[in-house]
Amino acid sequence: MENYVIKQARLINEERVDILVENGIIQKIAPCIETSYETLNFQDCYVSAGWIDIHTHCFDKFEIYGDQADFIGYPHGVCTVVDAGTAGSDTIDEFYQQVKNAKTRVYSLLNISSPGIFAQDELADLKRLNQEAIVQACQKYPQFIVGLKARMSKSVLGDSGNQPLIFAKEMQKFVNLPIMVHIGTAPSVLENIVDMLDEYDIITHVFNPKQNGILDKGYIKDCVYQAIEKGIILDLGHGTDSFSFETAKIAFQNGIKVNTISSDIYFKNRINGPVYDLATTMNKMLYIGYSLAEVIRCVTVNASKALHLDHLGSIEVGKTADFTVFHICPQDIELTDSLHQKVTMCHYLKPDYTIVKNHLYQIEEDK
Ligand code: ZN
Ligand code: ZN
Repeated sequence: MENYVIKQARLINEERVDILVENGIIQKIAPCIETSYETLNFQDCYVSAGWIDIHTHCFDKFEIYGDQADFIGYPHGVCTVVDAGTAGSDTIDEFYQQVKNAKTRVYSLLNISSPGIFAQDELADLKRLNQEAIVQACQKYPQFIVGLKARMSKSVLGDSGNQPLIFAKEMQKFVNLPIMVHIGTAPSVLENIVDMLDEYDIITHVFNPKQNGILDKGYIKDCVYQAIEKGIILDLGHGTDSFSFETAKIAFQNGIKVNTISSDIYFKNRINGPVYDLATTMNKMLYIGYSLAEVIRCVTVNASKALHLDHLGSIEVGKTADFTVFHICPQDIELTDSLHQKVTMCHYLKPDYTIVKNHLYQIEEDK
């Protein structure tokens, strides 16, 4: 399916347009396009640029946080998944071979620890920080490695302190890529992490309920405003333990919103929850009060900008023809956060079709 027209696509701003695709690229957008190509008509469903999940785990070499791109991607309306550090420079070849022919698009944030997440404490031994190997990996896979990943929390770091992040910032001068930093339990204190990061770096797990998170006794910490001021990108990174409705709500009431919505999905939290898929995470942000347009922006244009995936993320002439087709289901849905808090919402967003790498997939009813 390389040449086709989506007839009367309903965009998020309620505009209706025809979208002409040739050779997998958006060629024309107009109120009415006549061609002999195959036509697709999604009636009253919305059509957005293909969704991008910038924090997933889709390398199944290691038991601990493994999964497969085609389990978390296209069957759930997600065209592009970014693996956030499951692989490091020692394992990137194997990861690339595993995903290069996946139906879902896959990119990597290279773990600064050479093996990747082979165990919970991949940064406890500083010998696993190998400058040369990281530079080589980034040179070998310039289209695949889109950033670096540093998991800066106690269980990962052992006694390494802030050393791995100092190393990552040093590495950045060589590879010129954004760094995604996972935040969690101190001693790597949020204030210090914000201090060390720059514009375009990314903090993930922003709405985690832990003490070292964005709140101090229910108030937003000053360093969160500093992060925004600096242009640091705030990413959701739901995960098993890292999303609290309460934290997200307090942030929302104080005008603090994430730039990108990501799932931090892997096989366990996909199958047993609380993550399940990206759409469920997006629904939680609708519940918090984000508008539908904001939620879609967080997984399309904002996600593509965060990782310089310039050919993805918007419905524009010249961009790759990845699309997600979805609708708003007027039914109750129960949503659960990482603290097992349950909320009910009376409507929810549900993906219907994924168009990625020139294939159209109908999304099965599940759950
Ligand atoms: Zn993490
Ligand atoms: Zn993760």
